[in-house]
Amino acid sequence: MDNQVVPPTIPTNPVTPEILAKLRAIVGDRGLLEQDQDIKPFVTDWRGQLSGNAAVVVRPGSTEEVSQVVKLCYDNDIAIVPQGGNTGLMGGATPWPAHTGILLSLGRMNRVIEVDAKSSTMTVEAGCVLQTLQQLAADNDRLLPLSLGAQGSCMIGGNLSTNAGGAQVLHYGNTRSFVLGLEVVLPNGDVWNRLRGLKKDNTGYDLKHLFIGGEGTLGVITKAVIKVWPKPKDVATGWLAIPSVQAAVDLLNESHAASGDTVTSFELMHRLSLDGVFKHVPGTQDPLPHTASRESPWYVLTEWSSARPKPDGGEGMADRMEAFLADMMEQGLVEDAVIAQSEAQSRGMWHIREGHAEASRSEGPALSYDMSVATSKIPEFVTRGDEAARAVLPGIRLSPVGHIGDGNLHYGFKAPEGMTKEQFAQYKPAITRAINDLIRDFGGSISAEHGIGQEKLDELAYYSSPVEMAAMRAIKQALDPKNIMNPGKIIRMMG
Ligand SMILES: Cc1cc2nc3c(=O)[nH]c(=O)nc-3n(C[C@H](O)[C@H](O)[C@H](O)COP(=O)(O)OP(=O)(O)OC[C@H]3O[C@@H](n4cnc5c(N)ncnc54)[C@H](O)[C@@H]3O)c2cc1C
Repeated sequence: MDNQVVPPTIPTNPVTPEILAKLRAIVGDRGLLEQDQDIKPFVTDWRGQLSGNAAVVVRPGSTEEVSQVVKLCYDNDIAIVPQGGNTGLMGGATPWPAHTGILLSLGRMNRVIEVDAKSSTMTVEAGCVLQTLQQLAADNDRLLPLSLGAQGSCMIGGNLSTNAGGAQVLHYGNTRSFVLGLEVVLPNGDVWNRLRGLKKDNTGYDLKHLFIGGEGTLGVITKAVIKVWPKPKDVATGWLAIPSVQAAVDLLNESHAASGDTVTSFELMHRLSLDGVFKHVPGTQDPLPHTASRESPWYVLTEWSSARPKPDGGEGMADRMEAFLADMMEQGLVEDAVIAQSEAQSRGMWHIREGHAEASRSEGPALSYDMSVATSKIPEFVTRGDEAARAVLPGIRLSPVGHIGDGNLHYGFKAPEGMTKEQFAQYKPAITRAINDLIRDFGGSISAEHGIGQEKLDELAYYSSPVEMAAMRAIKQALDPKNIMNPGKIIRMMG
């Protein structure tokens, strides 16, 4: 989406040569990037749609260094934008163009402090790449159940700060649900250490939940204790062609019981969106290439997983799924289906699902709304949203994809054939208002998993109650009275 938000007022104290020298004394030469060409990738968002400024990129190597850098900025009223892998989709990690302060990159803080397999916890630094941690968990016969298309470059500190969702929320919950402890550098440089792997701890307010999903506006997450699960030993991955969104919801409900409550993923994709993936993402192939199957409007990727290995000669997950799908075909809820016969086939199916964000970068003009409503209401929402968008722009093409098991769709539209980006952009405000009003009327959320960042700054204020906004401002004011920590993200403090 093009950024049409009026930029907020933010602190603009400069990084003087004296402050730069002090930063160098804290992090050393290798902890500073000062040249424009080195800074540019850090101040441009993943989609290449937003860009901002920073006087310098600071890359601390320890919590102590983060604390000293933040204290220096606090004492001099210098704004800080924390950043992990820079894969966020709402511009939270991208400084505003008026930003004159620092960009704080956590990438050098990538140590694993402890793996406690018996307690099922891992203690890690914020700059660890998600995929590395997934592998670490697997090497210890455990599962870190956070998987998303950006896992090769997003970092756990970013995942925590956005309370990332992904493809396994249905079974394991989102990031918030598997964080046991945090260490955070507060906006004045103090270190808040709650790095404890306790499953039970009712000692006052549970402050960690302010920083999880806080998008770096309340402090810098430096370390975390993460809970992990037993590694699945028997997994079935199915790719289904289905007739309607209602069929997807009905199938999901049927699958819970049929699988013995082992449905770990249930993802919905529209045919138009899939065609974009096959066109733009190398190595993707249609799992159901027959002509008849290609005519289905909707597709589901589902996974059933069990920590128990398939019994020798007994029934495993794939057998159960096969029997279930045969039954569902008879009932007309499934038109065609294939179950992965190998890990490679399963990875191929997931590669398609995870390729949607990449494909949307290469496709023509498009819009996408990261929304959620109660899962049962998704079919009606999809129909009414389509009608509302077409009332603004006849010919607009519906193409959602998403985590329907969580009631969360990336409710997307492609421009009418032949329309330019500039023409399409003129319709965006009216379509956004129509869709977001509908989300409100359905009792849903205008940001299910990507957060607010800079892109939804005004939408959050528009759809939240004054009581809610006042409470958020009070928390921000209490923890960050100088408004230096990722200013102008989530809420405006200075207008
Ligand atoms: C291909 C693709 C697929 C994606 N799929 C999903 C998906 O399925 N589900 C989903 O939820 N998201 C998804 N995303 C969005 C994104 O990957 C997630 O939001 C991810 O959690 C961001 O991690 P990051 O390290 O890149 O954070 P960044 O983009 O660097 O930062 C995100 C926010 O967190 C703050 N931040 C980062 N690190 C810290 C820290 N240590 N302390 C304090 N604040 C910090 C930043 O200031 C910013 O506000 C996808 C993105 C891409 C590109």
